[in-house]
Amino acid sequence: MATQAKLFFDLATPGVRGLRPYEPGKPLDELERELGIRNAVKLASNENPLGPSPKAMAAVREVVPELYRYPDGNGFALKSALSIRHKVPMGSLTLGNGSNDVLEMIARAFLTPDHEAVFSEHAFAVYPIVTQAVGATPRVAPAQDGSDGAVFGHDLEAMKSLVGKRTRVIFVANPNNPTGTWLRSTDLDEFISAMPGHVLVVVDEAYFEYVEEPEYPNTIPWVARYPNLIVTRTFSKAYGLAGLRIGYSVSHPDVADLLNRVRQPFNVNSMAEVAALAALDDESHLQRSRQMNRDGMKQLTEAFSELGLEYIPSVGNFVCVDLARDASQVNESLLRCGVILRPVANYGLPNHLRITVGSKQDNQRVIAALRKALL
Ligand SMILES: *Cc1c(COP(=O)(O)O)cnc(C)c1O
Repeated sequence: MATQAKLFFDLATPGVRGLRPYEPGKPLDELERELGIRNAVKLASNENPLGPSPKAMAAVREVVPELYRYPDGNGFALKSALSIRHKVPMGSLTLGNGSNDVLEMIARAFLTPDHEAVFSEHAFAVYPIVTQAVGATPRVAPAQDGSDGAVFGHDLEAMKSLVGKRTRVIFVANPNNPTGTWLRSTDLDEFISAMPGHVLVVVDEAYFEYVEEPEYPNTIPWVARYPNLIVTRTFSKAYGLAGLRIGYSVSHPDVADLLNRVRQPFNVNSMAEVAALAALDDESHLQRSRQMNRDGMKQLTEAFSELGLEYIPSVGNFVCVDLARDASQVNESLLRCGVILRPVANYGLPNHLRITVGSKQDNQRVIAALRKALL
């Protein structure tokens, strides 16, 4: 068996051999099974504590009898709605099975083993995965050290200095996960304008709907000015549809045309499309989600201060708390209390845990468990 496994390893491409699988948050029912309990709390995957919009749930129920049919492979209805919402041509939209699917399409369309992708230290784990999976070389820029902007945030100057002839893609997460750090409009605009035309700048706005900072940019309108800009959004976070897998990008139509060539024919399923369409229309659910996040972020960060813990200020629906010691042992005690958070050692943050902002009650459970685990 062992020799067989080794043989397959040698057969894999060098990029794949260098990869580690993406580590998702521990599933709730897995922990409940292990502990023999029923009321575990999971604040590990940046899911919306309010759940999906009731309108989205109704839309999914309605489409169930149609599930024997293939979905609309071009996503006409959803693209029409997004085109109106964002005032962009339909041809600039690409739908994905989650926005991660779009990130992967970008890598497959533009990166080869001769090319490089640039991103920041502590950036979202999917960037190295899609880059190395196609054999391209990741170039990782050191994060901000605090001297010129948020600690742990993207250092745009450092990223710029890694751009060369072989660079094809730059991944910018705004805000970034897991740090929750963000980039100002003027800084990001200047950065994109300085990029040579052969470099595609991907601005990942997975948490866009949560951010309330006045200087935080909506970069979708910038696509008209920057043909090398690709903006990605998702329905997984504020819209509460993570389980259905749906996201999209806005880009120059010629870029969208290339992404469409590598896209799996029916990558977005029928339930996801109708649910996204309904969720997009449910402004009041989105408002409630934002309010809950605002309140929950305050609740968590006030508790951290009370416990004497530092944290990375975040504009998303999650926050990294600094335990000032190796986080894995604290995480083990939290798990024993039925609380699932996200260790971020694989992001170069061994002393932090990432906490998704949950309902008031769930946040309270986390705070109590943290207090106990830190004794
Ligand atoms: C959650 C997340 C995504 C979205 O993933 P989906 O595939 O759309 O569920 C993208 N980028 C970042 C930074 C994220 O945290």
